[in-house]
Amino acid sequence: MYRTILVKYGEISLKGKNRSQFEDILIKNMSHALKGLDYQKISKAYGRIYIECGENWETIVRALKRVFGIVSLSPAVKVELDLEAIKEAALRLMQQRANTTFKVQARRPNKHFPIGSMAMNQEIGGHLLRNIPGLSVDVHHPETELNIEIRNEGAYLYHTTIPGPGGLPAGCAGKGLLLLSGGIDSPVAGYLSLKRGVTVEGLHFHSYPFTSERSRQKVIDLAHILADYTGQGRMRLWIAYFTEIQKALQKSKYPDLNITLMRRMMLRIATKLAQREGALALITGDSLGQVASQTMESLHVINAVTSIPVLRPLIGHDKQEIIDLARKIGTYETSILPYEDCCTVFVPKNPATKPRLEQVLAAEAQYDVDALVDEALAKTESVAVSSAVQIFS
Ligand code: ATP
Ligand code: MG
Repeated sequence: MYRTILVKYGEISLKGKNRSQFEDILIKNMSHALKGLDYQKISKAYGRIYIECGENWETIVRALKRVFGIVSLSPAVKVELDLEAIKEAALRLMQQRANTTFKVQARRPNKHFPIGSMAMNQEIGGHLLRNIPGLSVDVHHPETELNIEIRNEGAYLYHTTIPGPGGLPAGCAGKGLLLLSGGIDSPVAGYLSLKRGVTVEGLHFHSYPFTSERSRQKVIDLAHILADYTGQGRMRLWIAYFTEIQKALQKSKYPDLNITLMRRMMLRIATKLAQREGALALITGDSLGQVASQTMESLHVINAVTSIPVLRPLIGHDKQEIIDLARKIGTYETSILPYEDCCTVFVPKNPATKPRLEQVLAAEAQYDVDALVDEALAKTESVAVSSAVQIFS
C-alpha cells in the first residue's frame, strides 16, 4: 500500500543558506545507497525528502539506515488534496491497526488547504471511530499516531516512524585523516567522524616485517567496513612505512618513552600527509586515561608536534561504550582478531604515564626525526577501499 517513504532530516534543516547544499549531498548519498534497488525517484520539498517506491519499501528503508543525516523514515501513503481521499486513505491505513488506542496528528504547512489541523484531527478521528471497531482515542499516550501532512504537492499519511542514524550527511564537513590501527577504538572514532559529515581517509602505520601481512589486511578489512558509512561506498586508506622508525626507537636509551615517541612520529607523518592531501584535521581513537599514552600529560606531549586540530571523538567514552558501538557498526569482530599491531610489538614494560617534554626532546635528539618522517611519507602507499568489492584500484 505504501508508495512513498517520507524522510526527515533534523539538523541540516537548520543550516540557513547552506541548507540546499546539505540536502543535495544527502540526496546524492541516498541515491548511492539505493543503487540497484527499485524505486522511481527521490525528490525534495521544503524540509522533507520523498522516495517514490513500490511494495519494496522495507528494502529501501534498510538500505537507508546507514545514510547519515537521516533522522527518520516513514512509509507513507500519498493522496491528492481532497478530504474524501484523505479519509479513505486514513481508513485503509488504520484498518491494519484495529483494537488500538490512537490519535490523529495533522499538520498543514500548505495554508491554502481549507481545513485546519484541529478540524482535520476531529474529522478524521471521528471517521475512523465510526468505521473501525475496537479503536479508541488517547491523545496523551496513543499506541498509534496517525500523522497527516498537508503539503503543496499532496497529503501524506503515515503511522510508523523508523529511526535513521542521525548526524550530518557524509561529505559535508571537510576532510579528516583518521589514524586507523587494527584496534577497537579507532574504527569507532572514524565512524563518529563520518557521522558528523567528515570525509574520512584512513592512515595506518605498518611495520613489516615486524608486523605481518595479516595485520595489514585486517586494517584494510576495517576500512572496508567503514567504507559502508562514507556515503559513497569507498574510502581511501594510506599505509605508511613505519619500520625504520621502529628500528630507530629500539635503540633508544629511554625505552619507557617509546610509545610517546612513536605517537609523536605518527602525528608528524600524519600532519604532513594531511597538509599534502588537503585534510583539515587528524582523528584518533584516544580515550582519556585508557592507557599510558592517553593520559592528559601524554596527550599534551604527543600533541605538541602538530599544529592542526586533532579530533578525538572517543575522549569521554568508557571502553565498554566503545565496544558497544564497535559491535553496532560491525567492526568489533574484525578488531579483536589477534594480529599484532606495531605498538603491541614494541610496547615497553613500563610505559611512561607522565612523559616530560625535556626528556622526550633528549630522546629525539638521538635520531634524525625529519629524515625518518620524510622516508616514511615517501614510502606511503595508497589503497582505495570500496564497500562493494573491497579494493577497486
Ligand atoms: P585502538 O583500539 O584504536 O588501537 P588503543 O586503545 O589500542 O586504540 P593505542 O594503541 O594507544 O590505543 O592508540 C591510540 C590511537 O593511536 C589509536 O586509536 C589510533 O588512532 C592511533 N594508532 C595507534 N596505532 C596505530 C597504527 N598502527 N596506525 C595508525 N594509527 C594508530
Ligand atoms: Mg591500539
